Amino acid sequence: MAICEECGMEYDISEAKDKFNSIYSMDNDDIIQDNCFDCASSIIESQCDVRECKCCGKRFDVDDADEEFMSETNGMSLKNGNHFNKFLCFECAKEAFEDKEYYDFCEKCGSRFHVGEADLQFADDCIDNNLDRNSRSEISDLILCAKCALEKVLEDN
Ligand SMILES: [Zn+2]
Ligand SMILES: [Zn+2]
Ligand SMILES: [Zn+2]
Repeated sequence: MAICEECGMEYDISEAKDKFNSIYSMDNDDIIQDNCFDCASSIIESQCDVRECKCCGKRFDVDDADEEFMSETNGMSLKNGNHFNKFLCFECAKEAFEDKEYYDFCEKCGSRFHVGEADLQFADDCIDNNLDRNSRSEISDLILCAKCALEKVLEDN
């Protein structure tokens, strides 16, 4: 048992940790070591910009998740809604990123497009035009939407 620094109540660290982990998706070792669940969560809610993930429902620190995601993806931000239409925690955003369930911007025409759908569209367009290349990301160093990717392949041929 431990004594909460905040309220002075006795609490079970591993129980507090389990409860914390079922509600929050964030690092908690330091705070649960010193504070009961109720105090730990009110400290976190007052110190951080805590949001609920629209995918898994867990609460997370937007700034931390954003930083972590940007370092994983070379600068893709979670925050502004450019790449995802909803708030996602780091884990869910990472999964969506790996599944190509996110939006990107075409560096040629500037349009915003869904990456997974653009890949499928481009593969279809290649078949329709009797082109054998079908990986959108391999045809250019630029990020291209399906339409611009097709134009680029037709130009190159
Ligand atoms: Zn407490
Ligand atoms: Zn999540
Ligand atoms: Zn484009």
